[in-house]
Amino acid sequence: MTAIELVRGDLTRESVDAIVNAANSSLLGGGGVDGAIHRRGGPAILEDCRRLRAAHLGKGLPTGQAVATTAGELDARWVVHTVGPVFSATEDRSGLLASCYRESLRVAGELGARTVAFPAISTGVYGWPMDDGARIAVETVAADTTVEEVRFVLFDERAYEAFAAQLR
Ligand code: ADP
Repeated sequence: MTAIELVRGDLTRESVDAIVNAANSSLLGGGGVDGAIHRRGGPAILEDCRRLRAAHLGKGLPTGQAVATTAGELDARWVVHTVGPVFSATEDRSGLLASCYRESLRVAGELGARTVAFPAISTGVYGWPMDDGARIAVETVAADTTVEEVRFVLFDERAYEAFAAQLR
């Protein structure tokens, strides 16, 4: 069974095998978690992303999928980039958000990662309500057995509380 831990803090400061990035499909940089990862991880991550785009991801990474690169100068072996869905009030995109967690774990597990740190995917610029984003994250990871430990790294108290409520 996968152990689930909650940390309040900055994802880019974690020491784990794999850090998951809430990327956008271009893989060529953005704000939020993505900007923080590239800032702290250095240019090697972006170079890897460019290589992936040039090789088999010409159109970018589809929503709900995941791909790994080097972690550059971060204290991890890999960054797993996944593209969360933009929240929609008229269309249920929960399956895509669950897929981000599942696919990130699959990719990390295939590489041999035992510990994986996640942000609250889609709950920033992509507008997913935090409570629901936390529910989908915790349910999906709890149903998975790919890695030994998943750490959700929550930036603020509200996010931390939303995840803690799901674990209670
Ligand atoms: P998305 O585009 O998938 O919504 P964002 O990067 O905008 O992704 O935000 C995802 C979540 O990560 C938000 O809840 C945001 O507050 C949080 N976040 C932003 N920077 C960090 C960080 N350095 N560490 C952990 N969480 C972060």
